[in-house]
Amino acid sequence: MLYRHAVGSVLVSLFASSGLAFVSIGHVSSLRLESWWLLIASVLLLRGLDVLHFHRVRASRLRSGRIEIQRFALGVIVTAALWAAFPLSFLRELNQTGRACTAIVLCGMAGGSATVLAPSKTLSSFFCAFLVLPASVLFLLFPGSENTFLGLLGCGFFGIMYASSRLTNRAAMTAIRLSRANEALLAAMEDERQRTETANVELKRAKSALSEANQSLETRIRARTADLEKEMGEKERYAKELALLASTDALTGLCNRVTLTRRLSSALAVAEAHGQSLAVLFLDLEKFKEVNDLMGHLAGDRVLQVVAQRLLHRLPPHVQLARWGGDEFVIALAGLDTAGTAVDLASNLNRCLSDPIEIESGVVKIDATIGIALYPDHGRTESDLIRAADMAMYASKEEKRSKIRLFDPTLSGQLTKRRMLERALREAIDNGSLEIAFQPVIAASTGECETLEALVRWNYPGRGYVSPAEFIPLAERSGEIGPLGRWVLVKACQEAVSWPGRKPPSVSVNVSAVQIESGTLPMDVAAALRDAALPSSRLRLELTESVFAGDRRHIIPALNALRDSGVRISLDDFGTGFSCLADLRRLPVDHLKIDKSFVESIHTDSAPIVSAIVTTAQAFGLEVVAEGVETTAQAEKLVGLGVHYLQGYLFSDILLPDAARAWLRDRNPAIHFKTAAGAIGS
Ligand code: C2E
Ligand code: MG
Ligand code: MG
Repeated sequence: MLYRHAVGSVLVSLFASSGLAFVSIGHVSSLRLESWWLLIASVLLLRGLDVLHFHRVRASRLRSGRIEIQRFALGVIVTAALWAAFPLSFLRELNQTGRACTAIVLCGMAGGSATVLAPSKTLSSFFCAFLVLPASVLFLLFPGSENTFLGLLGCGFFGIMYASSRLTNRAAMTAIRLSRANEALLAAMEDERQRTETANVELKRAKSALSEANQSLETRIRARTADLEKEMGEKERYAKELALLASTDALTGLCNRVTLTRRLSSALAVAEAHGQSLAVLFLDLEKFKEVNDLMGHLAGDRVLQVVAQRLLHRLPPHVQLARWGGDEFVIALAGLDTAGTAVDLASNLNRCLSDPIEIESGVVKIDATIGIALYPDHGRTESDLIRAADMAMYASKEEKRSKIRLFDPTLSGQLTKRRMLERALREAIDNGSLEIAFQPVIAASTGECETLEALVRWNYPGRGYVSPAEFIPLAERSGEIGPLGRWVLVKACQEAVSWPGRKPPSVSVNVSAVQIESGTLPMDVAAALRDAALPSSRLRLELTESVFAGDRRHIIPALNALRDSGVRISLDDFGTGFSCLADLRRLPVDHLKIDKSFVESIHTDSAPIVSAIVTTAQAFGLEVVAEGVETTAQAEKLVGLGVHYLQGYLFSDILLPDAARAWLRDRNPAIHFKTAAGAIGS
């Protein structure tokens, strides 16, 4: 503030000092006056330069200002001293006008200083005192009332100026404080503004980051939602597919067991509520296994699909049709009023199925056996009805009379009996309560016992001996044939080792087709031979013709392996079952066993058949065995037709192990046969 008005005050001072010096010319010593003026002008010049320097420097760098104030104060004091020097040096010499001018100039300068120097109380008081008081005192000292008046006026003026400078100073200080406060406020406001601006910038940045984050989140949410929707869609589709798979049969597209059972249960509830009847048909395809084995599984699958389509087309709408498994189908029809209608429908279905089926690998003719059960007569629940229809179908197959069979209550008795027998057989196998018996086979050329056939015996408590013809099929169906067959094999080998003689006979063991198909027979045979230490040449295996119907891909390699190990193979009950002469070429067999039914009727009509079998065997280099030989007449006829071996009650009963050993030791079969043959011959 001091420097702010300094230029003006310096210029005014210069002007005033110059004016004063000018009016004083000629009244005072010019040397002193010039010296004074030069001094004051120089000081004012220096001060002027200082002021300019201050303004220039101040603009470029901030400083505390202490040195500048001291410099300024020095300038003011020197100026004031020079002003004070003027009246002290020249007042006495000046005339009244000069004195008045001096008083006016000094008072004017003092008055101006009150404002210009207001920021410094000391400087303004000092300046005012230096300018006014020396002249006032001099005026008081001068004689004359006008001088006294001027002196008093000067002193009064000083008093007023002093008081005024104090007030002005206070105002200036207040102004400075306020200005400082303002500056601080402005600075604070600026800070605040900058802070706000920074905060705004940061807020903006945060907002944009937030919006970016929001956008990316939204994008991710959208993507995730789309993924989830896709996932859920896929899951739904899988669930539908699973439900479809779980409820339908993949091959034919018909419903499966579970679905049929469920639907039949609902249909039964409706039938019961409305007093309606309902029929369940159990349909089993004939010769399907052969199609599968001979033409391959793809052909089998195709046949099943065609059958399913034909059934669907032939059946009325709203009928439940399901593939029950394998080559079995179940049909449920509500509202059938009589058994006759159900039978008619079944024959209709049979007819449509018997039409040839064309597949890629050829034409197939297929047949079906159908069992029928009716609600409420044959059962009240779905499982009872299906079981009843199954039993009827099974009975129809066994009876071989018709392809269609209605359930009747006696069947369930048979089924119960069969189930009891199955359980008892399982226990017998587990307890080891089966027995083994042997029947000799005699060589026609020598009359010697060539081999003994092992025949399993089951002494069923309370019923006596049950025929293997009855329980072997049972064991085959229930899966017990595996352990049973292994037991017979082991036992037969063990017994054969104990047989007496220089060249003991071999043992012939019956083997079921199921055993061969299981794939373990070669291993079982090897184990039995090894454990009993029986040479493989002393073991024969008897297979029935049912092996022709089995899966040749398993059977032929198994038989080849057995034959390669030295075991010989017989085809049992030859001529009774499903035989294909062409297959004889492929099956590795050594003997054909003519079934006892042909032996029994050898004198009536079977001689040509036996003769044909013998010829066939010769053609393939096989030997022929005849079983069930009861009379010498039969024996002689068979030998005459070229049969190589004979077996039957004529030569021996079925012998338990001890009896078999005794028979081999004590009797001379050759003599016995010759006697018998001789008797016949004579
Ligand atoms: P198969 O192998 O043809 O056995 C011959 C059957 O004829 C035996 O019946 C035997 O007792 C009987 N037999 C023997 N000589 C005469 C006779 O002079 N006249 C008459 N009418 N019959 C005679 P079995 O023991 O009841 O066996 C029946 C069938 O059971 C056997 O026929 C065989 O296929 C099967 N079998 C027997 N034992 C076993 C076995 O251990 N395993 C397997 N898989 N099947 C067996
Ligand atoms: Mg046999
Ligand atoms: Mg036989």
